[in-house]
Amino acid sequence: MIYKRSSQLFKAAEKVIPGGVNSPVRAFKAVGGTPIFVQEAKGAYLYDEDGNKLIDYINSWGPMVLGHAYPPVVTAVINKAKKGTSFGMPTHIETEIAALAVAMVPNIDKIRFVNSGTEACMSAVRLARGFTKKDKIIKFAGCYHGHSDSFLIQAGSGASTFGTPNSPGVTSGTAKDTLLARYNDLENVKRIVEANLNEIACVIIEPVAGNMGCIPPKKGFLEGLRILCDTHNILLVFDEVMTGFRLAKGGVQELLGINADIVCFGKVIGGGLPVGAFAAREEIMNYLAPLGPVYQAGTLSGNPLAMAAGLAMLKALNEDAGVFQRLADKTAYLHKGLSKVLENKKITHTINRVGSMISVHFTEEAVVDFESSAKGNNETFKAFFHGMLNNGIYIAPSAFETWFITDALSYADLDETIAACDKVFA
Ligand SMILES: *Cc1c(COP(=O)(O)O)cnc(C)c1O
Repeated sequence: MIYKRSSQLFKAAEKVIPGGVNSPVRAFKAVGGTPIFVQEAKGAYLYDEDGNKLIDYINSWGPMVLGHAYPPVVTAVINKAKKGTSFGMPTHIETEIAALAVAMVPNIDKIRFVNSGTEACMSAVRLARGFTKKDKIIKFAGCYHGHSDSFLIQAGSGASTFGTPNSPGVTSGTAKDTLLARYNDLENVKRIVEANLNEIACVIIEPVAGNMGCIPPKKGFLEGLRILCDTHNILLVFDEVMTGFRLAKGGVQELLGINADIVCFGKVIGGGLPVGAFAAREEIMNYLAPLGPVYQAGTLSGNPLAMAAGLAMLKALNEDAGVFQRLADKTAYLHKGLSKVLENKKITHTINRVGSMISVHFTEEAVVDFESSAKGNNETFKAFFHGMLNNGIYIAPSAFETWFITDALSYADLDETIAACDKVFA
């Protein structure tokens, strides 16, 4: 495939945008080459500026679970836009989407809308701290909760459980309140809790991890966290920005039958427009301004275009009894097809999958946490990425990213994808 125009557009972008992109993973740093500039997208396909057609497995990193330019969402946004695009005053559509979200998701009474997943997680942690009157939080290595300071933390040196900043600009003062634990290792979390008794406000986790590849929680891990949190008056925060309205109507809480105290949303909930949200039972949510003391606000929060897109998306998912099973079936089919090809070619691999999230790791070890995910062979991944791209298949440009399956994909698309994999490793 030819990427002449994308290369030119990227050069122009680099002059006025740092690195030519508005979010780093788009820059192809992990795989090399030039990012592809999109002209338009419809259903399962991207059409780029050079006229290439690609089958899309990223889907805007998750939101487009029903495919690009999904007609009910497009119509809702167009109709809303004609009536004004922002007021900074309440609108009824905010209540409509809030009521629908509360009805779809278990264990939440109230929800507040923000503009991104980052904002949702940042606000959820502030709320947890305000509610429990404690400062420290536990997060897991390899989990991503957006780019607010408290989350840009890596493991500290030696035996220390304190984190250190992993970006300049994050202060050591902030870092000392974020404790880093190992995913799927309950004993590790217990030790951290015991070393910081009565100091931990919340444990925040991707209940099915998606930002170090797709990693399911081991049996008993989330259940154990729930008990640990209850024992120590710690709030359990599920970051369902990726999994919410994707793995089930009610996200992982419903899928695995485990209740969180605060739940964060983003991606699908906005139907492709910038939306995030966080939700909890009434007692916790009433701690937020203007009812309670914890401050949180947003000029464009609950924006009518964003709410119209989100409402159309949630309605579509709510009214389609078969959608989550269909998504899981398509993903399982892809998993089986890719496994068979990679086995035939004797390529060392592990494929992880939960519902419509799937990731291919070029390692023979089980991928259960950040360390095991990082053992994947990145040279093989690069070759895989570019090989798939040359065959018209757009997968995530990093081995640490999950692929997001959309219901717009046909079985013919999946067969084409599996055939492409066969050609790549010919
Ligand atoms: C994408 C993501 C975020 C951040 O959301 P943004 O909208 O990019 O700010 C937070 N948590 C998880 C689990 C995510 O996948």
